[in-house]
Amino acid sequence: MTRPFYVTTPIYYVNDVPHIGHAYTTIAADMLARFHKLAGRETYFLTGTDEHGSKVADAARAAGKTPQEFCDGIVLKYVDAWKALDIENDYFIRTTSERHAHGVRKILDAMLKARTDDGREVVYSDYYEGLYCTGCEKFVTEKDLVNGLCPDHKCAPQKIREKNYFFRLTAYAARIRAMIESGEMVVLPEERRREVLGLINQDLPDFSLSRERVEWGIALPFDSSQVAYVWVDALSNYITAIGYGDDPDSFVKWWSNGEIVHLMAKDILKFHCLYWPAMLLAAGLRPPDTLFLHGFFTVDGDKMSKSLGNQIDPNDMVRRFGPDGTRYLLLTQYPFGVDGDIQAGRFAQQYNSDLANDLGNLVSRVGKLIQTTFDGRVPHPASGIDGLDELVANAEALPGTTYEYIRQFQLTHAIAESMKLVRQANKFFNDTTPWILAKNGQTERLGGILYACLEVMRIVSVTLYPILPRKMRELRSLLGLTDATLNLDSARKFFELQPGAPVNISKVIFPRIEAAEKKPAVDEKPLAKSESREGVVDIAEFGRLELLVAQVLQAERVDGANRLLKLQIDLGREKRQIVAGIAEFYTPEEITGRKIIVVANLKPTTIRGIESNGMLLAAKTGKQLSIVTVDSDLPPGAKVS
Ligand SMILES: [Zn+2]
Repeated sequence: MTRPFYVTTPIYYVNDVPHIGHAYTTIAADMLARFHKLAGRETYFLTGTDEHGSKVADAARAAGKTPQEFCDGIVLKYVDAWKALDIENDYFIRTTSERHAHGVRKILDAMLKARTDDGREVVYSDYYEGLYCTGCEKFVTEKDLVNGLCPDHKCAPQKIREKNYFFRLTAYAARIRAMIESGEMVVLPEERRREVLGLINQDLPDFSLSRERVEWGIALPFDSSQVAYVWVDALSNYITAIGYGDDPDSFVKWWSNGEIVHLMAKDILKFHCLYWPAMLLAAGLRPPDTLFLHGFFTVDGDKMSKSLGNQIDPNDMVRRFGPDGTRYLLLTQYPFGVDGDIQAGRFAQQYNSDLANDLGNLVSRVGKLIQTTFDGRVPHPASGIDGLDELVANAEALPGTTYEYIRQFQLTHAIAESMKLVRQANKFFNDTTPWILAKNGQTERLGGILYACLEVMRIVSVTLYPILPRKMRELRSLLGLTDATLNLDSARKFFELQPGAPVNISKVIFPRIEAAEKKPAVDEKPLAKSESREGVVDIAEFGRLELLVAQVLQAERVDGANRLLKLQIDLGREKRQIVAGIAEFYTPEEITGRKIIVVANLKPTTIRGIESNGMLLAAKTGKQLSIVTVDSDLPPGAKVS
């Protein structure tokens, strides 16, 4: 009997709104849960929000809200973002819920009773000494200060001592090291495992369990002058959510008997790999099975940060690429686990090449021939077709291979393996030229080829389902399949589709996304004068203009209009015609071959009966006019910003 599978994301701190960093971890957890479910396992997938602490209280005050009202507002953004991405979590934990507080008090009481091997108390009170800004009403660190002063209050912080409760981490270091070395608790990838072992080999200080001067938190059950500090408050969510405080049956099922996987980015390694297992051991609970720490990413080469303002809202991606496109694009940028770069500038290109071309075209070209030649019914399989045996062998191996990758947390590899089969099926289709067979009436062989392609579609509709859940369900319904066979076992054998069964593949499942798709934004929302200052535009308004370098391929005068030139231009991705009022200043010969700057997403217009798709930029004063060009030899299509 396989153990139930329990997977978590970190709970996200509500001082930030959801961005693709949160989405990345959450999509990965969703994909893991869905894959294990396909393999027949019971799964539980937990995500949620971390809502306590002085930062939240400060942000609420600044927004003129109570901390709870403030949290309620931000939490909705997370709930909505996950809904938009088709995240199928089983529970959403909020640390401000009474259920969570109850569980936190229980683990605090359990830790209070704990004793180390040599009989000392695990939880002890001592004094915490630090720099305290009375203006901020919180402890600050040397790093926060500018010339020794709080940058917000321009005053020197005071050195303050307050009573705190501490956790004796030193007493658990050897045991945690042994658990990691023996594999009882697995830390992945290997680089992160070495990092944790390195930390344990240094002197590990005990850590604070409570704070005296913070009000927005859970009061300690044994000292109401203190609230639980972030480690115990946040990390405990992994057990309070599944019933540690209030549902023993559920807790035994998922924690005591489950396979527990905590997924997170690598910056919270110390708390998850050291503090958390130590707290669990002190409370008499088992440690998690696996901690997987994925890497950091940059966006188009830049670090993503709130202060730089380059965070990408997952909702914006969903609006453009749909939930499935967004999930796919985020998880396929670089191997899961390592650091990488998210090439947002190439999203549309990659979507078109992988999903619209490779996967979408396989579906539509096969579908078209089935509708026209076989009246929308599954044809009979045939043998003796070049490349068929290899295709069958690879397809039947796919569920096993991809699931093994999933068990190793190689999510990107699992997706790539399915896409490899899709490409192989496209090659098989091209090599066997079914459109010629259709013309020649060789229906038996034609049917065999289409049958094999349908089988590949059926099998990848299972293995790609965890990353493309909505689209693969759609594909399955086109193939006449239901959720009853949405499992890995049903995908392990070829030749399962019944000849004669109706299929109805008339729909394009991944419509292409045009690179010039930004156009409507300008049409719908004309540049408005800034409401706050006359004539001022903000960067977002400017960003709606698509300014590109173009090369003039050909130019000619317009009959009856001595000021106009008709230009054929190369925009890199496409060729276009524009009409420009520059004929009094440039001859067709002078302008041909020149690099110009064009507003590429201007609404097309007709000038003197000639269509113009864009506008060239030029500077003019009195009787002089000069086209705007680039200072060095940039290729057509380069973006001006
Ligand atoms: Zn201050």
